[in-house]
Amino acid sequence: MYIFVACMTRNRMKNKSTIEEQFEAMGNDHVSSAEDTPLRKDAFVLSDTEKIARIRENIREVMLTLGLDLDDDSLKGTPNRVAKMFVEEIFGGLHPDRRPKASTFDNKYKYGEMLVEKNITLYSTCEHHLLPIVGKAHVAYISNGTVVGLSKMNRIVDYYAKRPQVQERLNIQIVRELQKVLGTKDVACVIDAKHLCVNSRGIRDVESSTITAEYGGKFKEESVRQEFLEYINMETNF
Ligand SMILES: [Zn+2]
Repeated sequence: MYIFVACMTRNRMKNKSTIEEQFEAMGNDHVSSAEDTPLRKDAFVLSDTEKIARIRENIREVMLTLGLDLDDDSLKGTPNRVAKMFVEEIFGGLHPDRRPKASTFDNKYKYGEMLVEKNITLYSTCEHHLLPIVGKAHVAYISNGTVVGLSKMNRIVDYYAKRPQVQERLNIQIVRELQKVLGTKDVACVIDAKHLCVNSRGIRDVESSTITAEYGGKFKEESVRQEFLEYINMETNF
């Protein structure tokens, strides 16, 4: 896993005792804990409809606490709109039922070279601030006899992006899924994305973006990696 992050300072959490102090020390740091999205055991006990009803009340509470008048025509639909958007759209990829179906084909053309799908539009959400991550994913694989429809790569990127995410985990989840679907380790993914929690608030660095890369199998070889990076026109040596 390779990662370059502009404009982030890393505070240490040493000598901190209470949970509150640890959160305070973490500040705006983006710490990822595991490759799997941290889900509760009861994550899918409630139906989507039940989740929407509960989140609607929670959002209502947040807005009321902020002092907003929910009888106002412009605001009264917001709690329901946000709840539906969370469950069905921007966090819809939490539900395994929405995982793209794995339809693969035999590689009839015996094409054994690298296949690159670049500039896949990526919209995700930073799990530390619940603000958008907007960028591009570039995905590549070398077929070992199985190929996948091109749109499937976009769908896999989109499915994992539609979760509260950290970019490193998103990158790994995309590669892992494609490795599973294609039955090969020879998969790579580079993500270049802007995090609105960095661009629009906090340090407000409009220009910075974060690049992560995950290389599997043959992509760990320098020459193969270089070829991929040339296709996507990126600087090398990371
Ligand atoms: Zn963030």
